[in-house]
Amino acid sequence: MAQRIFDAAVVGAGPAGCSAAGLIAKAGFSVAVMEEHSNPGEPVQCAGLISPRCLSIASEAGHTVINRLRGARIYSPAGNPLDIMGKEAQAVVIDRAAFDRSMLNRASDSGAEIFAGTRVKGIQPGPGFSTVLGSADVKARLVIGADGPKSCIRRALGLDEPTFMMHGIGAELRGLDIEQDRAMVFFGRELAPNFFAWIIPAGETTRVGLCVRGSGRTPSEHLAALFKKSPTAEILRGAKVESYHAGMIPFGMLARTYGDGGMVVGDAACQVKATSGGGIYPGLVCAKYCAETAVSALESDDFSAKALAGYHTGWTSEIGDELGKALIMYRVFSSLDDRQLEDIFGMLANPDITEIINRIGDIDYPSKLAWTLLRKEPGLLKYAGKFLKHGILEM
Ligand SMILES: Cc1cc2nc3c(=O)[nH]c(=O)nc-3n(C[C@H](O)[C@H](O)[C@H](O)COP(=O)(O)OP(=O)(O)OC[C@H]3O[C@@H](n4cnc5c(N)ncnc54)[C@H](O)[C@@H]3O)c2cc1C
Repeated sequence: MAQRIFDAAVVGAGPAGCSAAGLIAKAGFSVAVMEEHSNPGEPVQCAGLISPRCLSIASEAGHTVINRLRGARIYSPAGNPLDIMGKEAQAVVIDRAAFDRSMLNRASDSGAEIFAGTRVKGIQPGPGFSTVLGSADVKARLVIGADGPKSCIRRALGLDEPTFMMHGIGAELRGLDIEQDRAMVFFGRELAPNFFAWIIPAGETTRVGLCVRGSGRTPSEHLAALFKKSPTAEILRGAKVESYHAGMIPFGMLARTYGDGGMVVGDAACQVKATSGGGIYPGLVCAKYCAETAVSALESDDFSAKALAGYHTGWTSEIGDELGKALIMYRVFSSLDDRQLEDIFGMLANPDITEIINRIGDIDYPSKLAWTLLRKEPGLLKYAGKFLKHGILEM
């Protein structure tokens, strides 16, 4: 096959890669998007819950919205429910495969060339160009790794690996009739150690899933238990499983998200909210900075790590603080046992507190709510010692 030379090669056609690719192509540069799957967007590895803010960034994907949620019913480890309900939609449920496809179409409409079914194995730096090692013979002046949690481009650039991986699993169900305007979230060490489980109404279907870490059991064993044990079993009775999805979520803050000749973005760069595992919104925010830096590097023909450092400064100044605080909140949460969580739930059940959660709660920026609650509910301060130790009260 004849060798093709592009200004930029983006590895991975998820939301972060497609967004960066589209912006670079729109600026007039040639872009190759290399995706290992022949049907980009599939298989789905996501519950498909994003904020209206996130949807506004991916405005071309508006038609992929299946449902809008105003709130959540959150269950304590003992099964006590706490209702959170805003006046307007706090989150939207998307058809994730269609969402990714519409982002890919936008990249392609902007001029990016898509190489579907092309698995990249790494990059070979060379004078002026890097060779993208894979089944398509592509060289690029700049390489962007948007290749998800186990990114091979992150490794090729010599960047840090995630601190740890969270393992997630979910199923799409039919045959349930549940309230459509709220998700359900379940906490407890037995149910979903070190994270939580969810049930999300998605119109004609319902999504159930969980993430776990540090459990002696597999994620699928935990998922199976949701159908057998209270309080989820009662809600899921009569459901028929239509499909399963599973994946990993990378947690950590990389010291650098760039190197000589390339950058990483999205899950490849651990740009994930540790409080929820949501990575679509941060990935899209960071893709904008990645594309801006790519365009100026292409214009100045300088792809040194020094020239690409502005990307890291840009995204960390917009969202790095929040992602760092979410990671601290996650660490504090995962250090609590069920009895302590139950105690916290008891405090949150106060109507004055739920009113604050309804008003300030924001799935993309949870630290503001955490700080407000700590100031409002003195009882939470006995757990705040850990927050203090980790520096979150310095907000
Ligand atoms: C169970 C579960 C539920 C989740 N639920 C939500 C949710 O509700 N909301 C939310 O915001 N986030 C959720 N997430 C996280 C979310 O899915 C990711 O953060 C998001 O997909 C990251 O986007 P990305 O573009 O960085 O990477 P990805 O979407 O992972 O895309 C990376 C792409 O790179 C491709 N690729 C990988 N390696 C190579 C290679 N070597 N060569 C070529 N191509 C390659 C992959 O096939 C993939 O298409 C969930 C994750 C899991 C596991």
